Amino acid sequence: MEIRKVGIIGAGTMGNGIAHVFAKGSYGVILCEVAQSYLDRGLATIRKNLEREVEKNKLTADESAAALARIQGVIDRRKLAECDFVVEAATEKFAIKSEIFRGIDQICRPDVILASNTSSISITRIAAITRRPERVIGMHFFNPVPIMKLVEVIRGLATSNETYDTVRGLSEKLGKTPVEVNDAPGFVSNRVLMPLLNEAMYTVMEGVATPQAVDEVFKLGMAHPMGPLTLADFIGLDVCLDIMRVMHDGLGDPKYRPCPLLIKMVDAGWLGKKSGRGFYRY
Ligand code: NAD
Repeated sequence: MEIRKVGIIGAGTMGNGIAHVFAKGSYGVILCEVAQSYLDRGLATIRKNLEREVEKNKLTADESAAALARIQGVIDRRKLAECDFVVEAATEKFAIKSEIFRGIDQICRPDVILASNTSSISITRIAAITRRPERVIGMHFFNPVPIMKLVEVIRGLATSNETYDTVRGLSEKLGKTPVEVNDAPGFVSNRVLMPLLNEAMYTVMEGVATPQAVDEVFKLGMAHPMGPLTLADFIGLDVCLDIMRVMHDGLGDPKYRPCPLLIKMVDAGWLGKKSGRGFYRY
């Protein structure tokens, strides 16, 4: 089946970036949100990011306008029935994702692949909710999606080779580099990255160093392009906490215990860049 129209669920940090790259890649996009205000915010971000690419001469003004015109925003999930492929990029909570996958399994044609951009939740568990577990897969993009090259492609236990090959090919068509991994809490990227970010938070909580000092250590000593606390703010502290909790529950090892300071900051609504305050102010 030729993939022409792609459904994206969620227009937040990741969903709007994923819609951006598919639209730029000449795919029709249906971007689905729960409320018009979230949809408007996501579409405004896509417009701003496309304009930035025009300013940098990466795209012409006509190409940018054409990409934007390929994106249709919807609140009614039933519109996804037109799609040939779906990527879910909604909030990192199993209850939310299970409700979505149960719903889209009913709405989308049986031959349509349903991918999740989850950072840590089991693809096998998500797939088991549907009647097409062989067509469910992890397609894990990285933030900011238009810039980052990697797509971590996660095979659930039942994912078919055909599904994997389709997603690998699609990632390449978007100009990304797919890397295959198997299903495990946090996959590879977050299994390794999140404990680093969490440990950096412990050093701040214990008064070992300021956020600025921790970030400087990693930028100057390890040549990281940004420090772990800046990165945590960019990812979203709520997203970091959700991922740590999935790994703590799924792997059962106390080394994945979320830092109490992270829990407190999320409780305070300090979610990082998106809320204007995290380890830094924005
Ligand atoms: P976000 O909070 O910025 O956006 C999530 C969006 O999903 C919100 O706008 C919310 O309204 C929407 N949503 C919730 N329930 C929905 C539903 N039923 N239907 C449609 N939309 C719904 O979160 P995010 O950072 O974009 O994360 C989305 C997913 O991507 C998560 O699974 C996350 O783990 C993953 N992810 C995040 C990052 C990152 O750096 N933030 C990187 C890779 C993967």
